[in-house]
This record gives sequence, C-alpha cells and structure tokens, in this order.
Amino acid sequence: MAVKVGVIGAGMIGADHIRRLTTVVNGAEVVAVTDIDAERAAEVASGAGARSLPTGQEVISADDVDAVLVTSPGFAHTDPVLGAIEAGKPVFCEKPLATTAEDCLRIVEVEMKHGRRLVQVGFMRRYDAGYRAMKRAVDAGEVGTPLMMHCVHRNATVPESYHSEMATHDTAIHEIDAVRWLLDDEIASAQVLKPRRTAKRFDHLQDPQIMLFETFSGARVDVEVFVNCQYGYDIKCEVVGETGTVQLADPEQPLLRTAGRAHTVVLQHWKDRFGQAYDVEIQEWIDSVANGRVLGPSSWDGYAAAMIGDATVEALHSGRIVGAGLKERPAFYG
Ligand code: NAP
Repeated sequence: MAVKVGVIGAGMIGADHIRRLTTVVNGAEVVAVTDIDAERAAEVASGAGARSLPTGQEVISADDVDAVLVTSPGFAHTDPVLGAIEAGKPVFCEKPLATTAEDCLRIVEVEMKHGRRLVQVGFMRRYDAGYRAMKRAVDAGEVGTPLMMHCVHRNATVPESYHSEMATHDTAIHEIDAVRWLLDDEIASAQVLKPRRTAKRFDHLQDPQIMLFETFSGARVDVEVFVNCQYGYDIKCEVVGETGTVQLADPEQPLLRTAGRAHTVVLQHWKDRFGQAYDVEIQEWIDSVANGRVLGPSSWDGYAAAMIGDATVEALHSGRIVGAGLKERPAFYG
C-alpha cells in the first residue's frame, strides 16, 4: 500500500519533491498540499491529483496523511515538525531543521520524549552515488585513519539578497553534514579566513570564504565557499588518510574535441548535480516510512549542523577560533 504524503510548502523544492513523489518514487502518493499562498497550493496539488488544505496543521492531522514533507522556508519548519511528532507521524524536513539551535534542540527533546525516531532532515549529499562511494572507502579503511579533508563548494552566481552568513547557513551546511557523516566524527571548532573578495559581485558580501574545522579526533577540514565563481556549480571533496586518499568523482560528462580543443562541461545548477541524490533520498525515506523505521539524517544531525553553523558565523565576524559547543549525543541517536 502506498505511503500517503502531505506536503507543507509548495515552492521550488516542494513542487520538485511532489513531482518526484508522483512520477519517480515507488510506493508513494501525495494526497494533500498546503502553502501560505493558497492559489499556489491549489495549482500544485491539482497537478499531483491531491487536494489543497488551508494550513499545515490540517495537513498533519488529516486522517489519510501517513507522513509529512516540510518544504516551507527554514523559519517556518519548527511548528510543523513538532506538530508531526505530536501526531506520531514521520516527517521529512528540508534543511535546515530550524533556523536556531534552540529550536533544533527542542525538536530533539520532543522526539526523544515521543520515544522513537520520526524526523529525517534533507541532507541529500548522503544519497549521492559519489559521496556514498567515498563513504564506503573510508568505512572500509581503504585510506587508513582520516587526517584531513578538503572541500570546495562553488556556485556560478548568487542574487544580491545573499549575504555573508548564508555562505555558512545555506551553502556550507551541506559540507558540514558531509564532514560529520564521512568521517564519523564530530566538529569541535570553526575558524573562517577571508581571502581577497571577488570584484565580480556585491560589496556587502565576503566571497570567497575559507572555513577551517577541527574534529574531536583532531582531523583538520578546509571548506572553500565561493558563490560567485562565474563558471558553474562545482563541488569537490577529498579525504586524506594515513595510507591514501579518496576523492569525489566529478559527474560523468562527455569529453568534446572541437576547434582544436578538448573540453568537457561544467554543470551550472545544483539541481542537475544532485537530482539523482534527491530521487534516492526521497525513495529511501518512503521505504523507511513503509517499514516503520526512519533511518536518514536525524534531528540530532540538524541540531549539530545548526550549532556548528552558528560557531562558523561567529568565527566569520570575530576572526577567532570558535568552539561548536555541542551537547553530548544521546544514545537515542546512535
Ligand atoms: P521557496 O521556493 O520560497 O518555497 C517555499 C514555499 O513555502 C513558498 O511557496 C512559500 O510561500 C511557502 N511558505 C512560506 N511560509 C509558509 C508557511 N508558514 N507554511 C506553508 N508554506 C509557507 O523555497 P525553496 O527554495 O523551495 O526552499 C524551501 C526549503 O527547502 C528551505 O528550507 C531551503 O533551505 C530548502 N532547500 C533545500 C535544498 C537542498 O539541497 N536540500 C535545496 C533547495 C531548498 P511564499 O513564497 O509566498 O512565502
């Protein structure tokens, strides 16, 4: 029997996940959609053969909704996630889990009180084939004990509304999760270096930034965030261990030979780079809901990302090394 999903937030990623649930994923059906813009909700719902409802609470409490997908903006995540836990329904929440670490911790505490995991956070790198291959190599000890990790996150351009703190909270949040997951280690502190700013974009923006993290076991991680690199969307990652290194493969593209040059294509948009990862992520979420056991990135991972993100932003402004100040991970989260 199909898992019946109610969706809160029918904007860009909400509509994309609805399309995915309707046309790509097996074993799912979208039955209800809400958005603060009722017209948009009605339009997106009708395209998926679902009904639109006026509020998130009505979606959560609808009898035919088995699981909830939260794709409203980050500031509007806490209430529907808490509402779904209180209703005992599994909930997939796009990143960030919440915009403050306090709200993330509140979700963690309510979920623990409920007694079983219901929340999955949308850290989709964990579902990308290239990252999964890296994870298998690290876990199998193929590169020995990890000592360092080098990451790059470049976007061609960002809009003028993008500000320096978003380099952490909207962009590097994916690397922060990937570091914790790949190394199976926790980030203890953050520092931010500010290279010469690109003249290609806005005065208000510190771009690029180099984030330096140290994990509890002493591994060192550098993350270059450069969101106006002009040439495309480019994600790189390498783990350096005691006996070898493992590098994220670039997505396969044809090698062209034309006009005396050999060249290949650089993808321009994150949707193209991670489209398949989203498909796998949502399929595995639906399968886990059907099996009664939510397994993906947890609300603890959402809380950790928020705490490390806050430390990184403080480091950006202060120029100091800032401790992440995470609480001890409860046994509930493995
Ligand atoms: P978006 O296009 O602005 O869509 C959000 C939708 O939610 C809009 O239609 C918005 O309406 C609506 N909304 C606002 N407040 C609401 C509320 N209280 N209840 C219900 N709907 C509400 O944003 P988006 O780009 O899809 O991003 C949504 C979330 O997904 C964000 O948290 C974002 O960080 C995350 N995201 C994750 C990834 C990833 O790689 N994992 C990628 C993209 C986005 P109005 O426009 O009228 O406000």
